[in-house]
Amino acid sequence: MTPPTPLIAGNWKMNGTGQALGEARAIAEAATAAGVRLALCPPATLVERMSRETAGSKLEIGGQDCHSEAAGAFTGDVSAEMLVEAGARLVILGHSERRAGHGESDATVAAKVSAALRVGLEPIICVGETRAEREEGRALAVVTRQIRGSLPAELSGKAFTVAYEPVWAIGTGLTPTLEDITEVHHAIRATLKDMFGAEGAAPAILYGGSVKPGNAAEILALPEVGGALVGGASLKAADFLAIVAGAPKA
Ligand code: PEP
Repeated sequence: MTPPTPLIAGNWKMNGTGQALGEARAIAEAATAAGVRLALCPPATLVERMSRETAGSKLEIGGQDCHSEAAGAFTGDVSAEMLVEAGARLVILGHSERRAGHGESDATVAAKVSAALRVGLEPIICVGETRAEREEGRALAVVTRQIRGSLPAELSGKAFTVAYEPVWAIGTGLTPTLEDITEVHHAIRATLKDMFGAEGAAPAILYGGSVKPGNAAEILALPEVGGALVGGASLKAADFLAIVAGAPKA
């Protein structure tokens, strides 16, 4: 099976108003020559404008979360259907800030993945251990459990991406060793193959957690790493494009 095209996706989290759209336009202009897939996931309020203002480019726009239901009495939530209508093609699901801050279980994430598939959104499903779990030697067990619980069987044959994001590396400036990233990515790939057979070789497995221009090239050069999910360093086009420049081309 041919390796998946690398994906570098930016997660703006709760950052960015209309003034920040210039950064997205600059990234969109560079997307054709990037040689990898590029995506930005802005706050829900910007999905439609960013999609419109970057239309015709190769930059893909995504949401940061979606509800499992299509519509209903869920104050503050956004459905997968709404994201698609706003122009999204991808959606981040199971980010640790949702799992920890909003009490999302593996089952909740799996239901959201099903919702994304219902409307043809490509889910980027996040997994990762806490610092305590790593120190207790449970990183592989935790990540494997999250993969098994958060990925519904209907993903078989569908386009999706997994992001390994150690919780302790997100926004801290800390990163795992290259050996540790490789070990976890191997475990994720083995689990995907166990769950989906040969098709488990297809999805890209991203690394996320304090990826910056200074460390991106060595992380992205690891054969097991199929791209990056980038938080803080995706807010400025210059930083994001410096990360993209370090990625091996497809
Ligand atoms: C993230 O939140 O997905 C992330 C990787 O953040 P940062 O790059 O800022 O660590």
